Amino acid sequence: MSDVDNVKSEKRFVGIPVSQGIAHFQALVHFTEEEDLLPQKVSAAGIPLEIARLEAALIATRIELLEIQQKIASAIGAQDASIFDAHLLVVEDRTLIDEVLRGLERDRLCVEYVFQEVARKYCATLEAIDDPYLRERVVDIEDVARRVIRHLIGKASQNPATLAQSHIIVAHNLTPSDTAQLNRSLVHGFVTEIGSKTSHTAIMARSLEIPAIVGMQGICHQIQTGDNILIDGYSGLLILNPSTGTLLEYERLSREKAQVVERLRLIRETASTTRDGRHIVLSANIDLPDEMSDVAANGAEGIGLFRTEFLYLNRATPPGEEEQFEHYRRAAEQALPHSVIIRTLDIGGDKIASSLESREEENPFLGCRAIRFCLENPHIFKTQLRAILRAATTNNIRIMYPMISGLEELRQANSILEQCKQELAAAGIAFNPWIEVGIMIETPSAVLVADHLARDVRFFSIGTNDLIQYSIAVDRLNDRIAHLYNPTHPCILRMIKMVVESGKAQGIWTGICGEMASDILLTPLLIGLGVEELSATSAMVPRIKKAVQSLDAVECGQLTSKALDLDDSSAILELSRSMAFANYADLMD
Ligand code: PEP
Ligand code: MG
Repeated sequence: MSDVDNVKSEKRFVGIPVSQGIAHFQALVHFTEEEDLLPQKVSAAGIPLEIARLEAALIATRIELLEIQQKIASAIGAQDASIFDAHLLVVEDRTLIDEVLRGLERDRLCVEYVFQEVARKYCATLEAIDDPYLRERVVDIEDVARRVIRHLIGKASQNPATLAQSHIIVAHNLTPSDTAQLNRSLVHGFVTEIGSKTSHTAIMARSLEIPAIVGMQGICHQIQTGDNILIDGYSGLLILNPSTGTLLEYERLSREKAQVVERLRLIRETASTTRDGRHIVLSANIDLPDEMSDVAANGAEGIGLFRTEFLYLNRATPPGEEEQFEHYRRAAEQALPHSVIIRTLDIGGDKIASSLESREEENPFLGCRAIRFCLENPHIFKTQLRAILRAATTNNIRIMYPMISGLEELRQANSILEQCKQELAAAGIAFNPWIEVGIMIETPSAVLVADHLARDVRFFSIGTNDLIQYSIAVDRLNDRIAHLYNPTHPCILRMIKMVVESGKAQGIWTGICGEMASDILLTPLLIGLGVEELSATSAMVPRIKKAVQSLDAVECGQLTSKALDLDDSSAILELSRSMAFANYADLMD
């Protein structure tokens, strides 16, 4: 065979780019779906062989788990490796194994089928018990069951045995909990079959500054663990076995992008003020507390959105008051002299915390999410509010309630806040009684009653990710209707304008913390609409600052007046894009 025959040919796949950057590593295919097994009959004489196969598969799975644990321990430390202790216990679980043996004798079906059935029943039973710890164990059992079955059917080589090396994850889906657990030193990007730009998983990829592509249907069956892949988070391309020419091309592109980043570093300490002198507060969104260091490094003026729900994910019990106090206090101290806007718990929708009691809902985004969950669970809400009030003695913390849909909800939340203040005062515990309270505007109802809401708060922050989904009735996670998820829909412009005007009439400021704030194509429109603060993904802050500095606020206002007369979202986008290109073409991807 010649060398040429050995070279694997390049193949390209396209998806939706959701986080910029280029990564070139081996793939790690995350199989989360179950194998399709057939219930093959086994004779009585064949049962001992099935038992022997089961024993061999359990031993092989145990060895595999120990190997992964060892690799992780030496690559990143024993603490991360200990998550596999629970997996190892599953391989030795006598109740599970005895049940499989009984099933084998009774049903006389192949062991992989019996094992899958028993594991399913076992998980269903645990899931039904109202105990967050046991529900968490279901995930471990499912993972171990998949490994055992793959050993039984001879697909073990597809197991994620290369976890301890740098890789790109290829998966059907990643939940925000999965993404929060990604090992940042080893995972350099991900590609999923489903998903959308404003899913929390995509938002986290941007915060983690790793390239990501979603909506690449069927990719899990095209790529195998260990394959050599390059992902381009600018255009949404996954390239399998990139050729030398392709690699050279991407090296050049990476160098160009690095030069832009280097140029932007020079403006880090400058103010985000338009050419004609309007200051736009430019702050950062953070999802994971350890992102705080990136905020200052990117030149942001504090935190415009601290998504606290990430403190509640991937754990058996919710964080207590002291633990939360420490997090908020540290964030506030690191942000000084700027402020931190702490958003109270926004659980529900696509963020499910096994540490919190939640029921399955038909329409989770329209269900018991965010402030609704907190008002229904005042003990959880109060723990958080007390922690925030205590941390706020630094005088730079503000509270923000998510998903407020009307005045009653806001007043209920404020009354619980007042109770917390009284309890802290009665106990002689130090707190900030003058803490500023604001709300997120993310529902059309809140937009329409913004004039009422403005009287009871100190600021508005528009959550465009949800406002778009709730106004246009387009699920923000659904890639099938992603084309309808349209930030420049005329209704969105009108709503932002209404909110800004209601706020101004009451003397309060309005910011934007949804992903629209991170899109430099839209900066002219947002400035023109009179928004006073933009809170963006930390990594995008330098670009937005440069965009703000290149624009003239009066010209933006004129542009927006024209845009508000248009009835077509593409024409509105085009208008904003043309001003962006005229002023900062060098920043465009
Ligand atoms: C939003 O909805 O715009 C927002 C910032 O909140 P989240 O994305 O966390 O729902
Ligand atoms: Mg939201």
